[in-house]
Amino acid sequence: VRIETLATGDELLTGLIADTNSTYFQQRLLERFGLTVRYGAVVPDLREDIIDALNAAAARADAVLVSGGLGPTADDFTAECAAKAAGVELVEHAGALEHIRARFKKRGIEVTSNNLRQAQVPRGAEVVLNAEGSAPGFVMRIGRCTFFFVPGVPREHRWLVDEMVLPRIETLGGASITPRALAVIKTTGIVESKLEVLVAPLVPKFPRVTFGYRTHPPENHLKLLGPPADVEAARVESLALIGELAFGAGDETLPGVVGAQLSRRQERLALAESCTGGLVAAELTSVPGASGWLESSAVTYTESAKQRWAGVEAKALAEHGAVSEVVAKQMAHGVRAAAKVEWGASVTGYAGPTGGTEKDPVGTVYLAVAGPNGFERTARHSWTGMERERIRRAAAWALMDLLRRSLKA
Ligand code: ATP
Ligand code: MG
Repeated sequence: VRIETLATGDELLTGLIADTNSTYFQQRLLERFGLTVRYGAVVPDLREDIIDALNAAAARADAVLVSGGLGPTADDFTAECAAKAAGVELVEHAGALEHIRARFKKRGIEVTSNNLRQAQVPRGAEVVLNAEGSAPGFVMRIGRCTFFFVPGVPREHRWLVDEMVLPRIETLGGASITPRALAVIKTTGIVESKLEVLVAPLVPKFPRVTFGYRTHPPENHLKLLGPPADVEAARVESLALIGELAFGAGDETLPGVVGAQLSRRQERLALAESCTGGLVAAELTSVPGASGWLESSAVTYTESAKQRWAGVEAKALAEHGAVSEVVAKQMAHGVRAAAKVEWGASVTGYAGPTGGTEKDPVGTVYLAVAGPNGFERTARHSWTGMERERIRRAAAWALMDLLRRSLKA
């Protein structure tokens, strides 16, 4: 099957936004079916350009994904252009109209007449109501080519690509499509070259699986793509080789994994953060239900805050400095005691660009975790040459990973 994308919108051609809708579809297509798009076009909000592009695609392709211009305002006229190209008129779709009315009512907003325009679709089009927005998606033929029309708002776009477009492309492709599976294994704290070395023995063993390495700092992911049974076998063997370095798979996140561990243990955590300034707390509280296991987080930025809120001794600060293993330990034990919870964790370091010592230059971070029955773990990292924001993120992830390993014990 020959598949194309057509993105509409002036913003895409004036450098305001990148066409991430088409790339989302392209990725999903490759992951799910191993198919690649043969041609991708971007056109401005001009009727004649959109109609030309629709006609040109209709003459070449079997299936085309069209993004954008289905909104309620006067600059949204993709449905009108589709009708023109197909030589049919626009008609009101009762289900779409009802969907728009119901959405507005639920939000307590008044429906204006331009909103009702979104219920107008080319005659004969198959309409798919959009759970993420008011404009529906629709499917229609122009000539012998199948067109999928999808709103431009990325959240709505993704939903309709998954629910409307991909299943129909699978049907359209018939026997020429071989379903593929994607497995993702996530690590942090190791570089991607190390990840590759770890799983290298499996590459010749699974010739039909593509091993991909993706960096999402401070995480590194292994992506396995191929026939479902091969991917599953490669996933199990990869996990065995990566071992404790893997924190999760698929949609799992590091904060989510730490939260799940604490929930399972029915234990709680308190934090003392210095150079991360609350980043660890922000990440952990992004997990729904975090109040079930996160008690508190203190941003103990100055020496006096470390003493008052985390019980750090003046002597330790004077002898070892605020960025030291001794102070990190005292911070973790201190917040644990102050919050009266099972776990305490801390981070202190030099995020730069100035500061640091000869022994502990900018980029040096000390972490500590304190737990039940005298449990204590510390770590020192030295991310020299990294800029401030990356050091802060790396430190936050390293602390969550130290927690994950501690909570396993
Ligand atoms: P709306 O109801 O918002 O008007 P629409 O279907 O008419 O939806 P557009 O007007 O084309 O869609 O785009 C709406 C917004 O979605 C744009 O302002 C832009 O932020 C985003 N968007 C549109 N097209 C793309 C794209 N190809 N890639 C990424 N984002 C996009
Ligand atoms: Mg619009």
